[in-house]
Amino acid sequence: MGENLSVFLAKSKVKANDLEHKRKLAFNIQKYADTVVKGKQQFANLDVARRKAKNVKWQTMENLADYLEQFERNFTARGGKVIWAETADDALEAVLDICRSKNAKQVVKSKSMVTEELHLNDYLAKHNIESVETDLGEYIQQLDGEAPYHIVTPAMHKSKEDVARVFHEKLGVPPNLSPSELTQIARVNLREKYITADIGVTGGNFLIADTGAVCVSENEGNARLTTAFPKTHIAIVGIEKMLPSIDNLALFWPLLATYGTGQNVTVYNTIFTGPRQPGETDGPEEMYVILLDNGRTNLLRPEVRESMYCIRCGSCLNACPVYKNIGGHAYGATYSGPIGSVITPHLKGMGEFKHLSYASSLCGNCTEVCPLKINIHEMLLENRHIAVEENKNDFSENISWKLWKRAMLSRTLMNSAGAGIKGKVINKVFKHNWTESRGDIDFAPKSFNQMWKERK
Ligand code: SF4
Repeated sequence: MGENLSVFLAKSKVKANDLEHKRKLAFNIQKYADTVVKGKQQFANLDVARRKAKNVKWQTMENLADYLEQFERNFTARGGKVIWAETADDALEAVLDICRSKNAKQVVKSKSMVTEELHLNDYLAKHNIESVETDLGEYIQQLDGEAPYHIVTPAMHKSKEDVARVFHEKLGVPPNLSPSELTQIARVNLREKYITADIGVTGGNFLIADTGAVCVSENEGNARLTTAFPKTHIAIVGIEKMLPSIDNLALFWPLLATYGTGQNVTVYNTIFTGPRQPGETDGPEEMYVILLDNGRTNLLRPEVRESMYCIRCGSCLNACPVYKNIGGHAYGATYSGPIGSVITPHLKGMGEFKHLSYASSLCGNCTEVCPLKINIHEMLLENRHIAVEENKNDFSENISWKLWKRAMLSRTLMNSAGAGIKGKVINKVFKHNWTESRGDIDFAPKSFNQMWKERK
């Protein structure tokens, strides 16, 4: 059994039996579910909106190379600089080069899953550059030394008491502060950092080809502060975030807001088109966009190309019965939940992460709730197929499936010795995987085949 699989199983087991964890997750997901219903009411015809969005993304991904080049032409025309990063190392080295050229010692960063994927904070820390998270949820997670738990709400698994404990332990403030007092403390600490930081780093929710723009949506205003004070702005964005035209935002902004947090539109939506222009009073002196591949072009293969349509709203995580049981950290990957299980094996290696494609009940709820109608659960099946085709299953797994197939195709075995012996054998064989934390599997006394024969 691979190391990633063993860690996944061990962590899942702990979390699935942690009732307090489930309670906190259920509480926060229910709050989300209640607001999403209201957000959806803003669409005159939600189904048409979703299908149109899917169509836009389909067309974008079919012509991605052209749009990327168009983006580069338009962004550089206004003085921005584009860096193409094929791997995580390319992106990290590019950031470090920029930091060194500015003699930067401090970076402020707004929420960005791509920078989590790169482990940017750790990398900069190794090079003696402090990187401070400015999104409140990310700030809590950074203080606690934990990765984000969810792609939209990083501290979803923490109650307000948990957050108060983290602030007490890490910042030495009194232990029982209220949420508004805690927020005020974070605000005071972060204001100082915005002013003193040399560089601001953001991700990007969308890249716009026809205007050469990077769009950032946020609810706290921290991304605007991250890019307003420092003289240099670096946006690191995955290539799948591309949209052909600025006009597409009229559809994609409300969709992202509704499915991400249940809002009609996110509070702050900023369109960055480059560094400060002559005559402008604010904005950075220099702006870089790092276009990140890091395995994304692997997702362009036809079986899983739809996963490139993802706008990272997090809706499929909130709907997934597996995520709700094991939480975000058990996946051992930056992107968790159903969409994480689809893309991680292609981003980080099918051999090491194929097990995530089995972390699904295949109920299809993820596909149902996805604003882009991405066929998530079908792509999980595609991944399993690809793993077999590429010979990524180990010997014991192949043997088990062969035996299973043989048994399933054998009428004699199916009918053999009734439920008694069959039940005993099955319950013994699956003792560790199934019956350890559940009751025994009960078989009907007679198979359907036997009953059918008797009826005749
Ligand atoms: S796959 Fe769909 S539901 Fe899941 S995060 Fe992406 S856009 Fe949202």
